[in-house]
Amino acid sequence: MDLNAAAIKNIIFPMLKYAKNNNTLDYLANLNKTQFLPMGEIISVQKEKLRKLLLHCVNNIPAYQTYKEIIPVIEKEPAEALAHFPILTKQQVNDMQDIFIFPDADKSKLIPNRSGGSTGQPVRFYIDRPTSEHSEAARWRALSWWDISIGDKCLMVWGNPLELSNHEKLIYNMKERFLKNIIFVSAYSLNPKSVHKYAGMINTSKPKYFYGYASALHLLAQLVIKNNVQIKHRPKVIVSTAETLYDFQRETIEKAFRCRVINEYGARDAGIIAYECKNGKMHISAENMIVEIVDIETKRPLKSGKSGLVIITDLNNYSMPRLRYQLGDIASLSDETCGCGINLPLIDNVQGREDDIFVSSDGNYVHAVYFCNLARSYPSIRQFQIIQKTRHDLLLKIIKNDPFIESEIMSYIKEIYKVMGHINIDIEYVDAIEPAASGKIRYSKREFPLIV
Ligand SMILES: [Zn+2]
Repeated sequence: MDLNAAAIKNIIFPMLKYAKNNNTLDYLANLNKTQFLPMGEIISVQKEKLRKLLLHCVNNIPAYQTYKEIIPVIEKEPAEALAHFPILTKQQVNDMQDIFIFPDADKSKLIPNRSGGSTGQPVRFYIDRPTSEHSEAARWRALSWWDISIGDKCLMVWGNPLELSNHEKLIYNMKERFLKNIIFVSAYSLNPKSVHKYAGMINTSKPKYFYGYASALHLLAQLVIKNNVQIKHRPKVIVSTAETLYDFQRETIEKAFRCRVINEYGARDAGIIAYECKNGKMHISAENMIVEIVDIETKRPLKSGKSGLVIITDLNNYSMPRLRYQLGDIASLSDETCGCGINLPLIDNVQGREDDIFVSSDGNYVHAVYFCNLARSYPSIRQFQIIQKTRHDLLLKIIKNDPFIESEIMSYIKEIYKVMGHINIDIEYVDAIEPAASGKIRYSKREFPLIV
């Protein structure tokens, strides 16, 4: 038995409730109940929270006070009222931050947050303690589907907190190690030498689950396989987050650690949005947020099954509410019900970033994940990056494998033409594909705005 896990679950978390008024455990207990309610009742819980939030917004938040006339609609049909509010972009949040902050909020209790700015557009905003605790509870609820509970030992493969000084880093690592039972592996320190050290760590400390961003977990798995490293301990589950998890990455990670890899769909500026269940479906944290999918161009809500922009309304953040916040990801909603016993609604085809969407010569949208997954059918391609530079130009960077068969590249290109139509494709053979400043490798990117 992991004593540290037991102490965190039974002593530290209950203590935090009294010492710091941390309500994560209470929120978790609620979420554990609501997930089994009939879908209609889950939606009622959601609507009631939305009604309260919208009333708070029109009464107290400067950005939304001009919407007071729709109070009767909010009272009667909050979901319908939500559609009256404009979609909010990251740029607007950055430019007009102050008008979204609740004037009576205790400023000292606001938690400044900044979404990853390495490849996308950074956004500065505040969340409050309840928002963060609700989100944490949603993560623990979903991990419980995989037999993981609060405090269980975790191997976290992540970028180093570079901004911290060495002393702060030490404290950070100790805090993670003892208070949260997290063993931290820096994605920047992964190499053929260090992989033996990390394998030893996995074998002796037996983390119950791994957690990390897709490309870092994939790199660790590749090093394990390539260097024939013995991994004797099998975790319960490996959670991939923060990036699109490509099929080839999932396969390699599952092969290296003989364990199921699942997707967490979360964002720093939206919390835990959805989590994969045992049936491989992504269940939305519906008690915490409303997820809408809207058309990329018209921004009109789309029916289930249609892919579009993900729009989030966080139902817990009263300090800085952001109604209908455009996240920058692409996904579709699903009407299906899942047989796993969890009745939370489903989100499908979460395809990550909006700038992963390419435009074909006849104006169709094509998600670059398609090309990334396709590339894996050609062994001659060791690594690649596909960039749509303009509407008519694609750049394909390839690291050759040994052996290398030219005709494979030609047939890959043919497949790209089939989907992208008449477009110019430049091929560059390179020795390395540089990761972004965050350490993440982007496999695909569109470099021009979608709507001109
Ligand atoms: Zn399910």
